[in-house]
Amino acid sequence: MTIRTFSGAHPFRPACLVAVWQESMRYEYGDPTDSHDDAVDFVAALIPAIDNGRCPRCDTALADHEIPSGSRMTDCRCIPICTLCGKIEAIVMADLVNVHGPEDAALTPLLSCVADWPVDRSEQQAGMDEYRVRHVRPLGTLVRDDDSQLFVITESGVATLSMRESPGGWLEHGFDDSEDQAERER
Ligand SMILES: [Zn+2]
Ligand SMILES: [Zn+2]
Repeated sequence: MTIRTFSGAHPFRPACLVAVWQESMRYEYGDPTDSHDDAVDFVAALIPAIDNGRCPRCDTALADHEIPSGSRMTDCRCIPICTLCGKIEAIVMADLVNVHGPEDAALTPLLSCVADWPVDRSEQQAGMDEYRVRHVRPLGTLVRDDDSQLFVITESGVATLSMRESPGGWLEHGFDDSEDQAERER
């Protein structure tokens, strides 16, 4: 089965998950050893779940018709994760989740890296609920001027909005599944 995420530059490639797990271990734990075999074991254990439509980040079955999000842990965004995890990664990558002390404990699980997968789904949901409670903002209005510049108008003023040209994934890299079959059969 070929799994295509909404945003991936190619179908899910186990090799991408192997690479990001190793990177995650080096970053989190300063692992100086060659962890390639461990990474392959980690990914091999997750593949049956992914093939059965489960989110590898929180080990929860995707809902019927749920289109997987492309995990932002890789630039190609080919690792299919659930909508909740996709939203969590989006706010984490945008630096919107700040943990300063014990009062932020409920938010901490949101910062989990690939080395922590699978994470506890109920902690993730609780963290997202806490985030939403804290970040309810006044509604803004989006306007565009004659030069196509975007502005957001809120109760507190007017701000200029700069958008990246594309969010990564296939919009940035196009779509290429030529190597997919060979990689999955290794
Ligand atoms: Zn998930
Ligand atoms: Zn990939």
